[in-house]
Amino acid sequence: MLTSFLPEHRPLSAEEVARAIARGSLEGVGSLSWRLKPEFYNLGYVLAIIFLAGGLGETVSGIVARDYQEVRCARCHTAVVAKKASFGLLCPGGHYAKVDAGKVVLAILLSLLVLGIFVTCGQAAGS
Ligand SMILES: [Zn+2]
Repeated sequence: MLTSFLPEHRPLSAEEVARAIARGSLEGVGSLSWRLKPEFYNLGYVLAIIFLAGGLGETVSGIVARDYQEVRCARCHTAVVAKKASFGLLCPGGHYAKVDAGKVVLAILLSLLVLGIFVTCGQAAGS
């Protein structure tokens, strides 16, 4: 995303467009047909950096973390060896022994953000 998609769809400044028109070719600036709006370009850049940082964080935590952890299950009220899952620790009984609220909130916010981007892009394409 940072190395190909965003640079290819970088919004052009009025000066770049004027220079390309004066030169009579789009060489060096690429096609004018499909460009992100500046606000989407900046949002995409921020998202790409967040994903990059998140990926690096997950890689490091994946290297140093353990798959299983001994916890007191919130539903069974006993000490269990729980397996790590998407949103917390999974009890051997098949339910969450401990829910990581931060991951749930992050997943909801990310879903709303992605949904917002699709809705906004759909409105922009529709109008
Ligand atoms: Zn349990």
